[in-house]
Amino acid sequence: YTKPPTEFPVVGETVKISKSTIDLDAPLPEGDILLKNLVLSVDPYMRGRMRDPAIDSYAPAFEYDSVLTGDTVGLVIKSNNPKFSQGDLVYGRTSLGYFEEYSHVKGSYADESYVVRNDPKTNGLPLSYYVGVLGMPGLSAYVGLKKYGRPKSGETLYISAASGAVGQIVGQIGKALGLYVVGSAGSDDKVEYLKELGFDGAFNYKTENIDAKLTELCPKGIDIYFESVGGSMLEHVLNHANNFGRIIACGMISQYNTQNPYGVRNLLYIVTKRLAFDGFIIMDKENMVYEEEFIKTCTQWLLEGKIKYRETIVDGIENTPQALLDVLKGRNFGKQVVQVTSF
Ligand code: NDP
Repeated sequence: YTKPPTEFPVVGETVKISKSTIDLDAPLPEGDILLKNLVLSVDPYMRGRMRDPAIDSYAPAFEYDSVLTGDTVGLVIKSNNPKFSQGDLVYGRTSLGYFEEYSHVKGSYADESYVVRNDPKTNGLPLSYYVGVLGMPGLSAYVGLKKYGRPKSGETLYISAASGAVGQIVGQIGKALGLYVVGSAGSDDKVEYLKELGFDGAFNYKTENIDAKLTELCPKGIDIYFESVGGSMLEHVLNHANNFGRIIACGMISQYNTQNPYGVRNLLYIVTKRLAFDGFIIMDKENMVYEEEFIKTCTQWLLEGKIKYRETIVDGIENTPQALLDVLKGRNFGKQVVQVTSF
């Protein structure tokens, strides 16, 4: 990573590939581990870390001219730390994994940043699931909907960016909880997928009239909005929200790459309709406490075929800058992952 872009990141400039060497045979100081990185997670919040480091936010700004960090899955190839054994698969916890082929991780950083995961070969689930459906995006869907959405059977749930890493899980959990679920996405293929997942309604927000579609597909209004987009989409939803509705503000991706944030004109509805508008960050301790329960429950759902998960996987670390731009431009279909090497 070099320095913040003005709007969208520029491939080969904002993030570029560089070569360095690492001695895999050198003795490891006490507490350190050596990792072979297998999977890198490309997520929208990474754009927010590309900012002037003087500006504070929930996730630290990337340091200029340093290795990009994010969620990763790696294999411990050497360990001088009692918490990790050679052969362990580790999850580089929320934004603390290094985006490189091999990593020499120092003791205390290893302890804070990495957790051992079960070998997916034992349950047949793909390794990439640990940064997707079983990782930060899946947990965001689960905690966001259940804790902040306070769903009641029969209510209408509307989801934007619904085919994405988070949205597709929100919709499937919503159906399991007895909600009437409607989603929007940016292509006809994505809309088709939402219907296959059992959404009660789905539309392409780029080609359809959003207001007309919300009137048609949410005839009883919107009780819960899982917000990932912001801008004019939020404005449309506020027009269709029911009294005492809940807006789960997970993200606002339409605003991440612009110098001119959209001015939402009807925020007064938050007052007059008595809406709860809750922003949340999944990495907060109060939300991470659900991680263990979630991984157990969700692994079971996946093994029983109760939920499906769509991913876009690109091979090779050199494709990471493009993959990041793709997510911010909506070219990913489902969770965007970079496979560094096969396992
Ligand atoms: P996705 O897999 O959904 O990928 C992003 C998607 O956003 C794109 O595929 C695209 O889908 C859509 N999109 C991109 N630009 C726009 C735009 N200008 N207007 C409308 N839609 C756009 O990403 P995630 O599921 O990982 O993340 C979804 C949201 O949740 C993001 O806002 C992210 O920042 C947030 N998030 C927040 C967390 C938290 O702790 N609060 C944790 C995880 C994610 P389409 O083709 O449908 O337009």
